Amino acid sequence: MSAVNETLIRDVVAEVLGRIGGATTTITQPVSAPAAPKNDSCGCGGKKAASAAPALRGKYGVFATADEACAAAQEAFLQLQQKGMAARRKIEEIVKAMAEKNAEPWGKIEFEETKIGSLPHKVAKLGLIKLVPGVDWLRPDAHSGDHGITLEEYTPFGVVGAITPSTHSIPTLSGNIVNICAAGNAVVFNAHPSAAKCAAVAVRAYNEAIYRETGIENIACIIEKPTLDSFNALCKNDNTRLLLVTGGPMVVKAAMQTGKRAICAGPGNPPVFVDDTCCPTRAAKAIISGAAFDNNLLCIGEKQVFVLDHVADKLMQRMSENGAVKLNSAQLEKLTKAAFTFKEGQGGGCAHASVNKELIGKDASVLAQAAGVNLPADTQLLFAETDVNHPFVQEEQMMPMLPIVRVKSVEEGIALSLQSEHNYKHTAVIHSHDVENITAMARALDTTLFVKNGPSPAGLGLGGEGYLSFSIATPTGEGITNPRTFTRVRRCVMVDNLRIY
Ligand code: NAD
Repeated sequence: MSAVNETLIRDVVAEVLGRIGGATTTITQPVSAPAAPKNDSCGCGGKKAASAAPALRGKYGVFATADEACAAAQEAFLQLQQKGMAARRKIEEIVKAMAEKNAEPWGKIEFEETKIGSLPHKVAKLGLIKLVPGVDWLRPDAHSGDHGITLEEYTPFGVVGAITPSTHSIPTLSGNIVNICAAGNAVVFNAHPSAAKCAAVAVRAYNEAIYRETGIENIACIIEKPTLDSFNALCKNDNTRLLLVTGGPMVVKAAMQTGKRAICAGPGNPPVFVDDTCCPTRAAKAIISGAAFDNNLLCIGEKQVFVLDHVADKLMQRMSENGAVKLNSAQLEKLTKAAFTFKEGQGGGCAHASVNKELIGKDASVLAQAAGVNLPADTQLLFAETDVNHPFVQEEQMMPMLPIVRVKSVEEGIALSLQSEHNYKHTAVIHSHDVENITAMARALDTTLFVKNGPSPAGLGLGGEGYLSFSIATPTGEGITNPRTFTRVRRCVMVDNLRIY
């Protein structure tokens, strides 16, 4: 018996039991059928959807296993194919409107579940989903000449398996749905276990609304209790045509070993270089706003600063005047002991630092307490002078505490920026008005995002030009993901005809 048939049968049994009041472990939420779709834009989809997959109804995208979710998503992909561009536009509209409307309650449940970052910034991130590009990005390319017309179209893959991080669970999931479904695909999420409940709330709400408006069920599915096993099952499932991974080094490595094509939005450790041609006040304000945002959870957030020695004092003074608080060396030492654990290197080599998860994404005032200082709860950012080998420089620490390293020359600043970025090819920032310095750093760092004279979020259209995504594909090279990232380019050729002049 095929896996799909098994799944269908299991679901029929579960639904029948649910209707007669029994409970089964495979049903992850009330078994009542979804409300009938409000309209049926193509005139047949609602009825067809109802008859095509009756057993999968009532789940609103939340499934116990990867195989069930993939089967439902494949069915949804076929429904979306039938309903065409109008349905894709409707899904985009629904997700953007609901993310904005629910920003406060969803930001709150994500904050309560993960206990990292800042509540106002969790809410703000959901209000940004409207900036994620959708269906309009899929204009075909045409070639017209003496031998006729050729059209290259951006077409869907089918089901995309997506992995989301704990740092922005609902925002990543929401932006991914916009991109992936705008391109005509369905998606199955394996969320971070510590941010999976809030993700399921959003998935359920999106599917209810999408079903009501389009008649399509389960276009965005989620595995209710994600594990490494469910990750492996999602990657292995034959319906999963493509992976989108947003997370740290381990999951990127795991995805690349699956044999499936993987678009990987991997880790970063963004350096900032400040030279003596920039405006120190503007640089200080930009650095604070980028590094303080959501307590520095963003992969693009400023994580360490290299500054020319003779302007370092001025930069730090401007940072203090604009809301950041400097730690002295004793306070830094205390905080470092709390923020990292150190393991002896092999054969007596250098000790290796790992970040204490308890302090990731915590408020600056909480870090200050660990450093032995009492600061007001609304303190935005801490900073301290360190050397380049300090763990706050070398580890992707995701805390509102910025190490500042003095350098003697532009060359040294660029070289240390490059070293501390660890070849993630993610994000780097410069504050300079010298085009030669800017060009030299851009070429040396070779990052996906390179921001000049602004805070890091400017690289995602937040204060700079360009569009937004919460998944920046770095090691695999697709860049800031958009609907075209999730398409196959297919060429259609008419020989010697249809050219109109
Ligand atoms: P994480 O790597 O711990 O988890 C990310 C996801 O991968 C989660 O869903 C987790 O369950 C899963 N995962 C982790 N290890 C796995 C393994 N071995 N096999 C299968 N799945 C595994 O990261 P996090 O703490 O949730 O998020 C922070 C990290 O993500 C940082 O490194 C940050 O830079 C990165 N990130 C990158 C982007 C980007 O766009 N490039 C965006 C957000 C976060």
